Amino acid sequence: MNATQASDFFVRCIEKGRIPHAFIVHGGTFEQRYDVSLKAVKILECEKSPNVCETCYHCRAISSNNHPDISRVKPEKRNLSIDEVRTIKQDMYMKPYSGRYKIFIIETDWMQAPAANSLLKILEEPPEYGIMIILARNNKNFLPTIVSRTINIRINPEIEAPDVDKKNSEYLEKIIQSAERKNWRNFFSMCAEIAKNVSREEFENIFEIIVMTARYNLLKDTEITDKNLKGTNQESIINTVSHSQIEELLDKRTYLRFNVNSRIILERIILELISPKWRNWQTR
Ligand SMILES: [Zn+2]
Repeated sequence: MNATQASDFFVRCIEKGRIPHAFIVHGGTFEQRYDVSLKAVKILECEKSPNVCETCYHCRAISSNNHPDISRVKPEKRNLSIDEVRTIKQDMYMKPYSGRYKIFIIETDWMQAPAANSLLKILEEPPEYGIMIILARNNKNFLPTIVSRTINIRINPEIEAPDVDKKNSEYLEKIIQSAERKNWRNFFSMCAEIAKNVSREEFENIFEIIVMTARYNLLKDTEITDKNLKGTNQESIINTVSHSQIEELLDKRTYLRFNVNSRIILERIILELISPKWRNWQTR
């Protein structure tokens, strides 16, 4: 779903009178996930809930990041530690001060087993008013037991290429071009160059560009423009097909965590990107 639909999901929870205790909002960009969480807490806490008035005490306190019942947890390197989970747990069981709910927004991409197990304990017996909203790039890095006990809301990537470092994306385009032209000498030396000069974080960024480029190309190949997609069955078909392939790519990101040589990953994903499997996906 897109970011607006993701926020609306919280409205529907309230309308149904059933509010789950834990969510994972994943996919999309950092800003989109952040916006969804901001809107969600307003939907939950506003005096006019499930509407958002933007003028009541709760809305204003949330906008100024100053609401006593809402905590943002930002783990170092986006890796949630057991200490942070313990703090959440302690805090969670103290009743809300002024809001209906006590809400924890946790920006994390992974957690080691001890932290995950401790979090599971909270998920098994959450207080009635306790809600956790985990914001993650991808929910695949979490234990299946965590994922299965939470409501997973996936924000689809935008069709437009993301606003990323221009220098990196231009360089990447050149690498993809040299692979397409089978100029292997150029291709391998440019991969080596980029892998040598960028940090792990930048590399992940480059990875995002590749994924977005792949998605963009898939959509372009169908000659169906974004406008035509809206509100048709094609939208879901295209989304399904391209997503499964994008997910294949995203799985490769897991390698990054294990410190596999970034040059080799880069070579591999680009070669896969230009292979006939990607180009002719419609005819498969
Ligand atoms: Zn309000």
